[in-house]
Amino acid sequence: MLNQIFNKIDYGQELSKKDLACLLALENQGDLDVLYDKADKVRQKYVGDEVHLRGLIEFSNYCRKNCNYCGIRRGNSKIKRYRMAIEEILDTVSVAEELGYRTVVLQSGEDMSYTVDKLAELIKRIKQQVDVAITLSIGERPREEYERLYEAGADRFLLRFETSSRELYRWLHPDSSYDERMEILTWLKEIGYQVGSGVMIGLPGQTVEGLAQDILKFKELDLDMVGVGPYICHEETPLAGHASGNVEMTFKVIALTRIVIPYAHIPATTALATLRPADGREKALQLGANVVMPNVTPAKYRALYELYPSKVCVQEEAAQCHGCMYGRIYSLGRPISQDYGHSFRRISQ
Ligand code: SAM
Ligand code: SF4
Repeated sequence: MLNQIFNKIDYGQELSKKDLACLLALENQGDLDVLYDKADKVRQKYVGDEVHLRGLIEFSNYCRKNCNYCGIRRGNSKIKRYRMAIEEILDTVSVAEELGYRTVVLQSGEDMSYTVDKLAELIKRIKQQVDVAITLSIGERPREEYERLYEAGADRFLLRFETSSRELYRWLHPDSSYDERMEILTWLKEIGYQVGSGVMIGLPGQTVEGLAQDILKFKELDLDMVGVGPYICHEETPLAGHASGNVEMTFKVIALTRIVIPYAHIPATTALATLRPADGREKALQLGANVVMPNVTPAKYRALYELYPSKVCVQEEAAQCHGCMYGRIYSLGRPISQDYGHSFRRISQ
């Protein structure tokens, strides 16, 4: 059975939900090594050896939502909130450019104090002053606002659907709807954004069948980017006491995502590095991932963007993260991309 599935991968045949669930249940290290090796070869064939760097700017930790897993949810009154001023964001984007990053990711809670006018103005000024691609990760907004931000110059949008299980989605998101989330992903694509989505691994109640369905959903949505990271328990949330996600399961989902949608950009996530600081990112890059997102948020804010505890790199300045990341990538013998790192899926079509 396992050999038949491995053969399907070798011949580029579609994997069924059952095949994926079978691979996700693998525990034997020898079998896993075979799977990871296949994923690494697919990565090399379709997206090459280059690693793309995206400078991450966490510009506000205010959020109107109350997602049950997230440390910056509205209901967490124990964290100090911050917002970066527009000029401060612009300065940080310049720092990212000086470090050589050709993409910045502007991420925040759902903070509506950044009106569409303010954000559009910010995007226009970035595009006038700095030579970078812009990815937004700012949550749910009306369709017209996504249109305005795209017209202003935003290139990409990240919006994870977190899980494709409707029941689990409903339980985790007291103030969001699964159907609306999916509808927004469709809008983003229609508008012209390069679209990223993804899931957390190890959410309470998640099953291997559920994860197999998540991977098929990535394909159905025809995503340009897929972010897969472990869920990490935050004690100031309703999920306090639940175990965090499993690193090996995260590796398996990354590897299978690479195999199922070979052209996608797949990051080695910060959450993965948090659970496995020594080599979590490096291993991910060797079994399917091709993107890393060094943090360029000013050091004084980093610890406050606490989605989960013990997040890596909160003490470092942007330049230190940069040096560390370059060292880690070069140690794998992988080159660092010098271009914007736009979607391969579009280039390949
Ligand atoms: N507010 C926007 C949104 O939800 O799309 C963007 C920022 S949100 C903090 C970015 C991602 O952080 C979420 O999509 C979620 O997957 C991840 N995240 C939140 N809490 C987490 C946790 N406890 N462990 C791991 N990842 C988490
Ligand atoms: Fe807000 Fe995003 Fe956290 Fe949900 S995941 S509470 S929308 S920051």
